[in-house]
Amino acid sequence: MRLLIVEDEPKTAALLATRLGEEGFEVVKEEDGESGLAQALSGSFEILLVDIMLPKLDGLSLVRSIRAKGLATPVIMLSARGEIEQRVEGLDAGADDYLPKPFAMSELLARIRSLVRRNAQQKPSRFVLDDLSFDHLTREVRRAGRRIELSTRESLLLECLFRAEGQVVSRRDIISKVWEYDFDPGTNLVEVYVRRLREKVDRDFPNSLIQTIRGLGYALRLGS
Ligand code: CA
Repeated sequence: MRLLIVEDEPKTAALLATRLGEEGFEVVKEEDGESGLAQALSGSFEILLVDIMLPKLDGLSLVRSIRAKGLATPVIMLSARGEIEQRVEGLDAGADDYLPKPFAMSELLARIRSLVRRNAQQKPSRFVLDDLSFDHLTREVRRAGRRIELSTRESLLLECLFRAEGQVVSRRDIISKVWEYDFDPGTNLVEVYVRRLREKVDRDFPNSLIQTIRGLGYALRLGS
């Protein structure tokens, strides 16, 4: 289970990372709001712990940004200021929970568990990468808020890439998941469909998300 901590106080961040690591979380730390936002948008975390007062971009703006992009990852806001307005502001911005500092680690862990449980029950149906989102139940695809129409195979191809979460998917995997062939038909079927998907999903946007990994296959991720 991956957890992102966005916290600029090194001591607090280190303490959180150690304790949460002991609880079995794979922890990634960021020290300012901008890098925290970029990490969060990778969509590869089960939960985000976000401090309110952060350099470059404050925690509330970070949460507003990820929600505006359709990312539903649960967020717990941390703040040195425990006043009621902060709590309301955090929840309004799209946070799921709020914990005033100083807090007991047992309390934080209890809240994380409860959010993870709640989220697992909801079974979120949306995949999000940068400004691209895909709902595997409604099959709705949007990029930068704009609706994109895909054919059935194109949408299965996109789902196949999304489910691999940034990892490389081989031509063979694509053939088996999208066409349900257990053999390689030896045609350029995959190339043709990747090209069509790119035309719809990537061509009119500044950054390409469908990457060709030469000799290996394809990956859906932010280009370097
Ligand atoms: Ca801070």
